[in-house]
This record gives sequence, C-alpha cells and structure tokens, in this order.
Amino acid sequence: MYAPIPVSGNPAMPVPALSGTSLHKTPCRALLDAVPAGILQIGPDESIRFANARFAAMLGYTPDDFPASLCELIHPDTHFHSRHTWKDLWHTMREFEVPIRFRCKNGHYIATDNLVRLMLDENGQPDFALLVSRPALADNQPVSRLHLSLSDPLTSLPTRNYLDYFLPDALARSHKNGKMLALLELNINRFRIVNESLGYDAGDALLREIARRLVHAVHENDSVIRAGGDEFIVVLENIGTPADTAAIASRLMQTVTEPMTLAGHSYSVTVSIGASLYPRDAAESRTLLRYADIALAEARKKPTGNIRFFHPGMHVEPAVKLKLESELRRALEKNEFVLFYQPRLSLKTGEVTSLEALIRWRHPEKGLLSPDTFIPFAEEIGLIGKIGHIVRHNLTRQLMQWRDRPGMPLPVAFNVSTCELCTGHLAASLKDILRETGLPPGMLEVEITESRLIENMHAVRANLASIRKLGIAISIDDFGTGYSSLRYLSSLPIDLLKIDGTFIDGLSESDAMQSIVKSTIGMAHSLNMAVIAEGVSTPDQLDILKSWECDQIQGYLCSPPLPSGELETFLRNRRPGMP
Ligand code: C2E
Ligand code: CA
Ligand code: CA
Repeated sequence: MYAPIPVSGNPAMPVPALSGTSLHKTPCRALLDAVPAGILQIGPDESIRFANARFAAMLGYTPDDFPASLCELIHPDTHFHSRHTWKDLWHTMREFEVPIRFRCKNGHYIATDNLVRLMLDENGQPDFALLVSRPALADNQPVSRLHLSLSDPLTSLPTRNYLDYFLPDALARSHKNGKMLALLELNINRFRIVNESLGYDAGDALLREIARRLVHAVHENDSVIRAGGDEFIVVLENIGTPADTAAIASRLMQTVTEPMTLAGHSYSVTVSIGASLYPRDAAESRTLLRYADIALAEARKKPTGNIRFFHPGMHVEPAVKLKLESELRRALEKNEFVLFYQPRLSLKTGEVTSLEALIRWRHPEKGLLSPDTFIPFAEEIGLIGKIGHIVRHNLTRQLMQWRDRPGMPLPVAFNVSTCELCTGHLAASLKDILRETGLPPGMLEVEITESRLIENMHAVRANLASIRKLGIAISIDDFGTGYSSLRYLSSLPIDLLKIDGTFIDGLSESDAMQSIVKSTIGMAHSLNMAVIAEGVSTPDQLDILKSWECDQIQGYLCSPPLPSGELETFLRNRRPGMP
C-alpha cells in the first residue's frame, strides 16, 4: 500500500534545506538528482526554477527541455492552475499535501501525491516552494473527484476529505509517541450575516483571513483544514494534557476574534469550538470527528463564542436518553443518591481538616453509579437543580448526625454545577439551610469547576458573591482543565484553588508539569488563595507538593471517597501525621 505523504511530523521523504538561489548552479544538484522522489523548486510567480532528474524522468522530459512554468505542467482541474490561489498559498500555508495530475511530455497525465513546503527569504517574503512528488497509487487510473477536492480553492487549506488520508496517520504517530491528539472544530458565528450584509467578496475575504490567522496561530506540526462553509478543523499533535488543548483553543478563539477590515468596515467575528481528544475520548478517527461535532453542537448553544470539550454525557442515543431521564426522575423521588466523603489532608499539620462530598447513584439494577454517568446528562435535561437540592439535603442530614461525634463534624465541600449558579436559588437555599440547622457557615464549601466558569461569567460572579457573603468558602475545582488564567479568576471571590489531578499525575516525570504546578501554587498564594492538589496517589508527589508549600492534598494516597460509616472508621483508626 502506498501511504500518503505525511504533511507534518517526519515527512517520509526528507526535504533538503535549500537556499533561495537557483539550484541549477548549486553543488547539491547531483545530490537532489539522486533523491528517489521528484523534486521541483517553484517561484511565487509559478516559474519552475529547478526540477530534479527523477521528476523530469517521471514526466518523460530531460532536465533541459523541462517546461518553465507550473501552469504548463498541471491538469486544468487542479486548483493550482489558478495563479490567484497559488499566490494565496504563501499567506496561509507553510506545508501541505496535495494530489496533482502532472502533464507528461506525451500529453498524458500522471496522478501524484505531493508534499509542498513554502520557503520565505530573510525578509519574510515568499521565496520559493519546494515540492516533493511521488506517483499516486493508481497512476494509470483517472483521478477521482475526491482526490481533486482535497484542497480548498478559496483558502488553499486542505478540505475535510483530506482528513480521511491524514488523520489515521496522525493518530498512529500520536500512539507511537505516547502523546494526545486534539481535534478542534471551529464554527464562525453569524458568518451568514457577513455574506448577506457585506457581500460574498467580504465573506470570502473573511474566510481567507481566518484561515491565515489559524495557520499562523498553531505550531507548524499542526494542521488547519477548511471543513466546508464557515467551519474549520484544527488537528493538534503532540499534546501533553487536556489543559494544553484548552490553552491553544482559547488562543485560537482570541486570534479569530480580533477585528479585521471587511469592505471598509472593521468587523469582529466570534467562533464556537468543539474539541475531542485522542485517546481520552476515542481511538479512531471517525468517532473522534463525530465527538468533535457533538461538542461543537454543544458549544453553539451559546451564540457568542464558546469552547466545549466532548464528554460522554453529550452523546447518548435518544431511546437511552428517554429511559435514563425517567430513571433519574424516579431516583430523585425515591432519593436513590448517596454521598461518599473523601478526606483532605493539611500538609502543614498532617491532619484531615475537611472532606469533599461526592455523589453516587444507588441504582436498583445497575448498582452504584459514578457521577460521570449521570451528572452531565442531568445538566443537559435540566434536572441538575433537583440533584443539587438532594445533595444539600443529604449533606445537611449527615452533618447534623455528625454534630455530636467526637472529632466531627469536619467542614465539607460539595460540588455545584455552573447551571446551578446561573440563578440565585443556590444562595437562597444555602441561607435557609444555615438558618434552619444553625450550622456555622464555615462547615460548608462550594466547589465549582473551572472549565465551565467562563460560560456564564456574569451571573456566576454575582451568585458566588452572595454565597461568599453567607460565610461559605468557594473553591475552583479542576484548575488547569479550562482556559481561565489565574489573574482572571482573581476577580471572583475565591478561597481555594484545586489543581487538577492530571497535573499531579505528571509531576514525577515532567519538568514542564513541575514548573506549571509550582508557579500555580505561588501565584494562588499571592492572590490569597489556598491550594489543594487533587489526585495525589504517591509519596513522591506528596513530598514535592510539601516542598512547594501546597496547603492540602486529596487523593488515593490518603483515602478514596468513602461512605460515611467507613469514613468514620478511617478517621478513628488513622495515625496522626500519616498521609
Ligand atoms: P471532582 O469534583 O474533580 O472529584 C474528584 C474525582 O476524582 C472523584 O471522582 C474522585 O473519586 C476522584 N479521585 C479522588 N482521588 C483520586 C486519585 O487519587 N486518583 C484518581 N484517579 N481519582 C481520584 P468521582 O467521585 O467519580 O466524581 C467525578 C466528578 O463528578 C467530580 O469530579 C465532580 O465534578 C462530579 N460530581 C461529584 N459529585 C457531584 C455533585 O454532588 N454535584 C455535581 N454537580 N457534580 C458532582
Ligand atoms: Ca470537586
Ligand atoms: Ca476536581
């Protein structure tokens, strides 16, 4: 099988470093003639400055009677027959793969796979393109329309079809390197309005400008694809953590949003982004694409620009959804939910100083279900408010029971969905609880996930302030998985920052992870926030965190989440100073 030439990573055929001068006179001519692939050097004006012997032979020419211009060589159906699009390439792409039908000396055409790399001179101006060519698989067959539609004539970006060739290779590379790959699907919001109000030329200019910005904003090993209409796909390779993807996604969002001039008007677009991650979400390209689609559909529910990562809760078959919804409603009526409690350990005192309540569903047939299987779905169908209510009900009952036990109760943090913070109900309900039970507000803490915060910032900010006013502490959960900066969060009333477990996981091996975690702890402290490291599971991690003055840890090293009875036993038997 003749594999397509990879666009990025390590090209199957090495691209020699060339200077901008004509190759005819350079001593590397003999070397290039010996390369087992066709090589062309093409000027920005489509002039052919050099063809190696292999390329000339492939088309039946000798190097001396080789045509002087690219347009004499390529099939009229090839998008590069137009000078305009070839020129455009210089502004959008640095390296890309393209199938081209080259015209042989005898008038027949040969289908080829080509890797093109654009070279700039010292002043950053287009100097030449280097094209490395091989005959395509079926070189005696007519080239299919699919093949020709791999490159988009408007933006010169590869099209969605191109992913069929490229993505499996990219996934194999990620697998081999033990890295993640992220698929980002971007949709320009309100693009149609540009076409309708400013005209199609302005719409085209906008798409070209966005293509250009996206290409400039990503690493040269990453790929930008025009998926059709107002949709782009960005493939990020060599991703270390989901947080890296979130950071790049927010950078892309920012660059796209910057104003541009269209038909004499300054115009800003917003963009919705849906992301899926290999291998976290799926191992196979079609599924990853579908999941990115699903995440994009979620993101688009908010019209003003939004980033959403795929989550299994987003993707449930309609029949299954219906059943799950009726089961959830029954579970709410019968209160089939229980809270487990995970201790948090103070690194200063070595004592368990607080707990986190984590919900489980005691399903009559399926047994104990983890929150990931039903919380996202409950958010989607609007049942999360009722679940939150039950969590507070069960938690308050537990705290009242613990009230008279020696050493108890400890303050308990509980998780709250962003949707619960969009109305003032939560603050009002917490106020009622404090009044009715007489519990001191210091016994409660609200945890809110960072990645969802930004979605409803305005309402969230006001409601967090009301909760804080009651004397209840607020922590940011899963810090690092979203795309908010600490400075940005510092405008919210936050007492604690919980660094996500994926960062702690990588602590022992990765220098980058170490510096991220260390500087996060320092910055949080300078903003008067205490820091909890989540998912701490080894003594090494504990030691590192202690040396950086992290305040608390939570994780299997100390204890998994436990039902209340087991937690009491754990705390009774625990030797002071042990993790
Ligand atoms: P979270 O708030 O980040 O909770 C921490 C999760 O990490 C818990 O999963 C916990 O069991 C797990 N964990 C704790 N220590 C370790 C460790 O050392 N290693 C590893 N690998 N994992 C550890 P769980 O209980 O399945 O909860 C999942 C998520 O569900 C929670 O993540 C939280 O976002 C959500 N959730 C849980 N309870 C509630 C709730 O009452 N309401 C809402 N809205 N969401 C909840
Ligand atoms: Ca939490
Ligand atoms: Ca967490």
